[in-house]
Amino acid sequence: MNFFSEDKLSHMLVARKPEQHGTSVCVGSAEGKKLFIGGGKPVVIAGPCALEAEEEALSLAKGLKELGVSIFRAMLFKPRSSPYSFQGLGEAGLSILDEIKKQTSLLLLSEVCSEREADLTAPHADILQIGTRNMSNFELLKHVGRLNRPIVLKRGMGASIIEWLNAAEYILAEGNPNVILCERGIKTFELYTRFTLDISAIPAVKELSHLPIIADPSHASGRRSLITPLSRAILASGADGLMVEVHQSPQNSLSDAKQALSLNDFIELKKSVQVFL
Ligand code: PEP
Ligand code: MN
Repeated sequence: MNFFSEDKLSHMLVARKPEQHGTSVCVGSAEGKKLFIGGGKPVVIAGPCALEAEEEALSLAKGLKELGVSIFRAMLFKPRSSPYSFQGLGEAGLSILDEIKKQTSLLLLSEVCSEREADLTAPHADILQIGTRNMSNFELLKHVGRLNRPIVLKRGMGASIIEWLNAAEYILAEGNPNVILCERGIKTFELYTRFTLDISAIPAVKELSHLPIIADPSHASGRRSLITPLSRAILASGADGLMVEVHQSPQNSLSDAKQALSLNDFIELKKSVQVFL
């Protein structure tokens, strides 16, 4: 059965041409700290589901920096499934991003859900994230394609690999070549885990595309206990990085508490994946 047209894919900007090496995406600015994702050592991105308060965010960022994290999740705009759940600090939190940068010089990743949020956030963050719920928001994809920031593009929870690569194509076609794909689990009939981490997507994307690919075991599993073993699987399968949720006090996290790691859990995770880093 033909699952998708590989012929069409071969003409796309995201496609890996024969003999083509994987792309390294440069994160950070010429003046500040720089880091490459893809083609080298895997990167570890960590931080809370959402920023909640400045003091805790700063102390968590400092703690994670000491543990070797180079990119901090600094999320302000949360696309929640329920309108009654915590929606993030929003615009009011932008100054926290500046303060974290000033005090830690960590690279910052922040999610945006609209063109307006992208314009507001870009001056304060090193990487913009398009989450699973916006992978098919084509106007947003085109908009971030015109911005001078690397983009982490998460896989739509119901998207095939080819649909996901087409979403990335929207960004590249507008002139932004700096896209990092992120596998974050897809919907299946399995209910024990929040989603199903599609490990095969990692080598499949490597085969089809030159873009770097990372994976997020936190949203994929929704369960703290599964994050370390899944992280090993992600890195063993050749991913260019890992993104995990860490909270100072996981049980008090305003969002995704069941999947948040404590700093101690994160130390154990780091030990367990050290062989890949
Ligand atoms: C996130 O990384 O903060 C997030 C909301 O993830 P996803 O879009 O994969 O659900
Ligand atoms: Mn989350």
